[in-house]
Amino acid sequence: MSDTTSPFAPGFQERPFWWEAAPPTPVSTPLPDEAPVVIVGGGIAGLSTALELARNGVKPLVLDREPIGWGASSRNGGALSGAGGLGKVRSDLKEAFGEKFFAELAEEGEQAFEDFEALVKREALECDYVRCGRFVGAHAAKAMDALKRRAEMINNASQDEQAWLLPKSRVREEIATDRFHGGLVMLRAGSLHPGKYVRSLARAAQAQGAVLAGGVELLGYARTLDGGFLVQTSQGPLRAGKLMIATNGYTGKATPWHRRRLVPVASYMIATEEIGEERVKAALPRLRVYGDTKKVLYYFRPSPDYKRILFGGRASFLDADTRRSAATLHRFMTDLIPDLAGVRITHSWKGNVAFGIDMMPHVGQDQGVYYAMACNGSGVVTMTHLGGVAARMMLGGSNSASAFARLPFPTAPFYTGNPWFMPAIGVAYQLKDRLDGWRLGGGAA
Ligand SMILES: Cc1cc2nc3c(=O)[nH]c(=O)nc-3n(C[C@H](O)[C@H](O)[C@H](O)COP(=O)(O)OP(=O)(O)OC[C@H]3O[C@@H](n4cnc5c(N)ncnc54)[C@H](O)[C@@H]3O)c2cc1C
Repeated sequence: MSDTTSPFAPGFQERPFWWEAAPPTPVSTPLPDEAPVVIVGGGIAGLSTALELARNGVKPLVLDREPIGWGASSRNGGALSGAGGLGKVRSDLKEAFGEKFFAELAEEGEQAFEDFEALVKREALECDYVRCGRFVGAHAAKAMDALKRRAEMINNASQDEQAWLLPKSRVREEIATDRFHGGLVMLRAGSLHPGKYVRSLARAAQAQGAVLAGGVELLGYARTLDGGFLVQTSQGPLRAGKLMIATNGYTGKATPWHRRRLVPVASYMIATEEIGEERVKAALPRLRVYGDTKKVLYYFRPSPDYKRILFGGRASFLDADTRRSAATLHRFMTDLIPDLAGVRITHSWKGNVAFGIDMMPHVGQDQGVYYAMACNGSGVVTMTHLGGVAARMMLGGSNSASAFARLPFPTAPFYTGNPWFMPAIGVAYQLKDRLDGWRLGGGAA
């Protein structure tokens, strides 16, 4: 007899659902003695940089400590949008950066989304991409104000209306819940299969002549007299004309300057067992990607074949094991969408994202070392874009081609890269959501 109280399906696995169809594949290449550009990090940022360089005749070497694509790039929710992500992390952007610069950032964010779609087409990237739109639920009545500002930001950066608010009475058109107080629909948003996306990006870069080497760790580097670098790796030294760091949430001690500027945070996901398209549609009628306005937010979507639901969130602010986080996420999911009670989990996993101290994405160079990092939780489009920006900077373009390259990359006094304060921030965030009225088992608010 099956255990009807357990949230775990038989054969439950603590590994990304995406790896079933597209596991990160180890690529072992003998390391060359030198490369015109060495890129550290074989995720979306590093591979997008490599593709753009190689298309322009510079054949870079991409190193990853793990198999290529092993990081957040093959573990994420695969939910994409443009500038909407900016408004999510910073509500005071206009004041912080001034109206004109803010408009430039927002326009570039929206353009990045169009460029991403063009890239998928141009390179024929097989990644189950669909422009499905996004729905963001308001966890409290007052959150509708922030969603209104987000809609304005998106529409001001677009030719036509791309985003609008939905009142509480119409939320069920989007999702089978009574928990939200309304929401925001964003049309310029889509979904993809992250494992397939990073794999096809790697193949496209390789086809243009980039060399990929998994299982090679950067240990350190030093500048040489000719302006290049001597790069120390776990497989020995090599010379690089240029060096790029694209290690985001996995940035370690080999690059302390970057580490001091990033706050790594784990994000957790589960996949349900197959429940069939009809049941998925009953829960998520428009088959979009979804999020909410809480501090400790949920994000979720149908699987690319519409047979399962994938649900993610910050199940823990400590480094939780993925069996425990699965049970927590299952509670979050069934509390939000009660019709899913009894649906079991087949996969649970986690991955690291990185926040900038200023909650902004960053691209540029310091002391001749290029970087693209600080995805702030949403990086599929952003890191694809910033990788391209970094490549064009290395190819000799000017910084002003990207507003993001003009942002200073701040650190905080005494911060060395160890986010010891995250559990305290987690408690504060959970408290803020509770004060806003969000409680598990809260029923109709
Ligand atoms: C669970 C989860 C859900 C997410 N959901 C979404 C979403 O729905 N939409 C969205 O847009 N974004 C989402 N994100 C964020 C998105 O996945 C990231 O922003 C993006 O993948 C970052 O890509 P990257 O190439 O910068 O970093 P990564 O893909 O993390 O790659 C960094 C690589 O650097 C390597 N590395 C680190 N140190 C070294 C070293 N010393 N030597 C060699 N290699 C090294 C690591 O092994 C790693 O493979 C999510 C992330 C997670 C974890």
